[in-house]
Amino acid sequence: MADIDVNFKNLLYDLYSKDLSIKIKVSMRAVKEQGKAVCSTPPFGYTKDPEDRHKFVISEDEAVVVRRLFRMYADGMSTVEIARIFNGEGVKPPSQVWMEKGIRVAAPKGGAFVWQQSGILRMLKNRAYVGDLVQGVYECQKIRNDRRVTDSEKWIITENHHEPIIDRETFDKVQKRFQKSGRKWKRRDQHVLVGRVNCGCCGHNLRHSTGIGQPYYWCPGLNIYHMDGCVKRIEDFYLEEVILFQIQQHIMKLGESDKLLQAEKEAAEAEAEALRKKCRDVDKAIDKDKAQRMAEFEAYVLGQKKSYDVSIDEVEKFRKKYEGLMEQLSEAEEKVGELNRKKVHESFAVTKLTEKLLDEYVESIEVHPGNEVRISWK
Ligand SMILES: [Zn+2]
Repeated sequence: MADIDVNFKNLLYDLYSKDLSIKIKVSMRAVKEQGKAVCSTPPFGYTKDPEDRHKFVISEDEAVVVRRLFRMYADGMSTVEIARIFNGEGVKPPSQVWMEKGIRVAAPKGGAFVWQQSGILRMLKNRAYVGDLVQGVYECQKIRNDRRVTDSEKWIITENHHEPIIDRETFDKVQKRFQKSGRKWKRRDQHVLVGRVNCGCCGHNLRHSTGIGQPYYWCPGLNIYHMDGCVKRIEDFYLEEVILFQIQQHIMKLGESDKLLQAEKEAAEAEAEALRKKCRDVDKAIDKDKAQRMAEFEAYVLGQKKSYDVSIDEVEKFRKKYEGLMEQLSEAEEKVGELNRKKVHESFAVTKLTEKLLDEYVESIEVHPGNEVRISWK
């Protein structure tokens, strides 16, 4: 009886929370459609209006950072460069500012608050900075905070909802850059070393940047851990040249051992050939002996001779010799086969770094402080 009671209570609670969840969603949507902000924290740069908690007002200390961010990007800097400059100057990222102001408490990923490319991108795309209110991007699926991005048709946009931090002209300029670079980002990076080089300091896979100027590799650990030894910048053409040179040296060394291997093969082949010749000689001697015995036997039968040699000692001697030689020969041939199966490096003169070359010889590549390149061989 007590069990049924508990089950019934659970069922009731379940129904209740589902119903409550729907009610919350419906009423939230109603508030949003009236153009009222219901999100828990306004975007970085704004604060809730103390007079009306549904409105945003500019928070000047944050807004200066937002303006600078948009200006840098509109002037052609990449999000990566901006993140590095801000982190280098000690500009506090939104999560840190919010924590210090007691608005939101979130532990920083990796132990320190840092500007990250993804966060900068989100800010640069946020229409809130031109005064529009965009809501309904995320929808709560359940009472538990399970956020999902909704279709853009479901978004509720209220234009000129609050005072803009960024003028529309700058904002549009920034969005245009996204459209341009968007295609570039989608195209798979084809550089031969992408995914093959690690940071010798923190072990991260180096990223390839193909923005303005000469493309280069750098360590994403720089933004995460701020480690001194991490790779700051190594131009891809330089890295390619260094690796190609080391592969050439490596193949040259392999070539020297190839020469030794070649000599060993030739010696084994000569030995096998000598044994084959000996076998043939013994075979001939046996045939000769047989013919001689037949002739002697014939002469005896025909009465031309009084006796003939019945001992088989000589035959046994030949047979044993032949067997011994055959054994040696099969050993020698096995050795030749074994040496032939050993790899011989034929490409002594490589002039271009290719995927095939890297796959064949290189186990891993690390870039250490001072852009020192270390390769582990296969
Ligand atoms: Zn690193």
